[in-house]
Amino acid sequence: MNTLVMKFGGSSIGTTDALTQVLSIVLHESEQWNQLVLVVSALEGVTDGLIEAAHLAQLGQQRGYRRIVANLRTRHLALIDELPLGTTERAVLYADIDRLLFEMLDIYQGMAQITSKVTPEAVDATIGVGEKLAARIVAALLRQNNLRSVALDTTSLIVTDDVPGNATANLALTRAQIAQNLLPLLERKIVPVVTGFIGATSTGKPTTLGRGGSDYTASVMAVCTNASEIWIWTDVDGMMTADPRDFPEARVIPILSYDEAAEMAYFGARVLHTRMISPLREDKIALRVKNVYKPQQVGTLIQDTSGPRSQALKAIAYIPGLAVEAKRTGEGVSTQGIYAKAAAAAPNTQIDLITSSQSATHSIACFLIPTTAGSDAIHTTRLALEENLHASAETQSWTVKNITFITAISATIDNWSATTAVLLKALSNIRLLALSHGPSNSSLTMVVENKDAEDVLHAVHSFIINPNS
Ligand code: ASP
Ligand code: MG
Repeated sequence: MNTLVMKFGGSSIGTTDALTQVLSIVLHESEQWNQLVLVVSALEGVTDGLIEAAHLAQLGQQRGYRRIVANLRTRHLALIDELPLGTTERAVLYADIDRLLFEMLDIYQGMAQITSKVTPEAVDATIGVGEKLAARIVAALLRQNNLRSVALDTTSLIVTDDVPGNATANLALTRAQIAQNLLPLLERKIVPVVTGFIGATSTGKPTTLGRGGSDYTASVMAVCTNASEIWIWTDVDGMMTADPRDFPEARVIPILSYDEAAEMAYFGARVLHTRMISPLREDKIALRVKNVYKPQQVGTLIQDTSGPRSQALKAIAYIPGLAVEAKRTGEGVSTQGIYAKAAAAAPNTQIDLITSSQSATHSIACFLIPTTAGSDAIHTTRLALEENLHASAETQSWTVKNITFITAISATIDNWSATTAVLLKALSNIRLLALSHGPSNSSLTMVVENKDAEDVLHAVHSFIINPNS
């Protein structure tokens, strides 16, 4: 039995054009595979809107959250109106959308009455609605085109731990849920369209898998259905040598190893969720990243081995970070001490220590905030760090600054010291704050000040594109 899991991101389902592409891709693949599972994200921007609505609700700003919900309703209804759907499908969708959004308004109303700080749990309880709406629209479109399809909410499929805003799936418990609730549908040749991003704890509390979490949902689905492949459909041509929005000359990378892809995602390439690779690696499930508008192109294949030219530098990724610096006056300030204090100062965000160094007079620790925390996290974490560190006499002289991690990716970075030399040469007269060889042996990370990042990125990227120049 060969099974394919396909995930469509928010930019691949937000317009009629995009949905027409999705439909033709699904119809085509349904002929090639015995079983299909589809995973969808919320329409682009919807999750951000829902997070804002939850914050407004917690502040008691009824008009604000109502306006957001009304805009979401208008946007989804407009999309449905443009789709070639029969009157029954359309009427069922209208009713579903209104029911889901009314439920949201009720929850917001409740939140508005308890005027406490917005908790990540409260956000988790509300932001999954974007995926629920999207799954229903896609399933209706498939049914209209004679494919047996049903929308399913992963709150009853994916069992997670209890980490709000960034939960991890428990694969054993999830496998059991999937065997019971999803495999019977596949056996009956029904194509389930499941909600990305959301799950629930074993006691039924709603959770989310971190921003960009629908990729991870797809990977959990692939593992638990013993799929042969997983395809992530997006609006770029695959995994690229650099972010194509900033580097128009960036090229598609035809093959990456699981390690290389995982490092790219962790160090800032937003195409993939950072934690989606490891379940796939264990079961050796091939992952493809493809452009929804160019389905005939092969895109990127991510697999066990790195493919030809595995010695070469493959890609450059970058992500903003924060550095905490302390002068070693009085009691010795160790980098372990900085880490402990920084983690305590930013309790709601995962901060990972990438590199640190210590001399007789200074200590510096450089932290990465995973992309799953969302793009605001860097700003809110900096504020939390400054507020908490400066409130204590012991740490008030410490400074927090924005930095950029620039990571070069290659399968065998350590075995080829010429790579390190090239990277250091690219820095020329730029001040390097720190340098770190990733323990996976696939990445080398340079830490630079934000103002220098662009120059370094361009220098390294031109080497990737023209290694012999
Ligand atoms: N809709 C969620 C987000 O915006 C999940 C996803 O897009 O994968 O983060
Ligand atoms: Mg994504």
